[in-house]
Amino acid sequence: MLEVTDLHVNYGPVNAVHGVSFAAEAGKITLVLGANGAGKTTSLRAVAGFHKPKSGRVVLDGQEITGTSAHKVVRKGMALVPEGRKIFFPLTVEENLKVGAYVAPRASVDQGLAVVFEKFPVLADRRQSAAGLLSGGEQQMLAFGRALMSQPRLMLLDEPSMGLAPTMVDRVLGSVRAMADEGIGILMVEQNADAGLEIADHVVVVNRGETVWTGSAAEAGGSRAIVHAMLGDA
Ligand code: ATP
Repeated sequence: MLEVTDLHVNYGPVNAVHGVSFAAEAGKITLVLGANGAGKTTSLRAVAGFHKPKSGRVVLDGQEITGTSAHKVVRKGMALVPEGRKIFFPLTVEENLKVGAYVAPRASVDQGLAVVFEKFPVLADRRQSAAGLLSGGEQQMLAFGRALMSQPRLMLLDEPSMGLAPTMVDRVLGSVRAMADEGIGILMVEQNADAGLEIADHVVVVNRGETVWTGSAAEAGGSRAIVHAMLGDA
C-alpha cells in the first residue's frame, strides 16, 4: 500500500533524514521506533507532503507521490494525525471534525460524522463542547476522528500516546488497533515502545536519520533488549 524508500530530508544545511525506508499495509500497523531526534516526525511529515524530500521515493498503491503537497496527498487517501494533536481548542468537537471533511470534499460530512461518532461515542456525547475542554485522551480521539473524516485508507500517526495517563494509553492504542482491524493501514510513530509493540504487526527502528532495523512485532517483542539498545534507552 505505502512504500517509502531511502528518504532524505534536509532543513537547510541540516541533513535530518538520510536513508529512511519503511512500508505500510492495509489492515496492519507498522510501528516506527527511534530515540528523540532520530528523524521520525520529519519522515512522516515528508511522506504526508509537508516537507519536500531531497531524494528517495514515496509510492502509494503503486503510484509515485514523492513531493506531492499535503492537500493532494489527503485526497489520495492518506491522512496525517500530527504530533501534539493540533486540535482547534476554541472550536467545538463537531467543528473540528468538519475541518477534517473540508480537505476532502468528496466525502459526505454527515456520513463521516456518523462513522466517527460510532467509533468514538465519547465524541458524540461531547459534540457541542469546546475541544479545549476534552481530556488528553479524548483530544487524541478527536484528532483520529478529524483524520477519519477524509475517509483515509492509510493513516500516519505521530506519537498518539504522548502525555496520556497509562489507562488512556491503552484506550487510545486500542482504538488504533480497531481502525487497523477495519482495514485501514497504519504507520505509527510511538515513543512508548512497549505499548506500541502490544498492538503492532511490523516494526521499523530509526536511528540518527536512517532505518537500522525492520522486522515483525513478534521478532521485536522477542528481542526487546535489542530494540531498546537500538533506541539508546537500554
Ligand atoms: P522526537 O521524538 O523528538 O519528535 P523525531 O525522531 O521525530 O524526534 P525529528 O523531529 O524528525 O525527530 O528531528 C530530526 C532531526 O531534525 C533532529 O536533529 C532535529 O533537531 C532536526 N530538526 C527538526 N525540525 C527541524 C527544523 N525545523 N529545523 C532544523 N532542524 C530540525
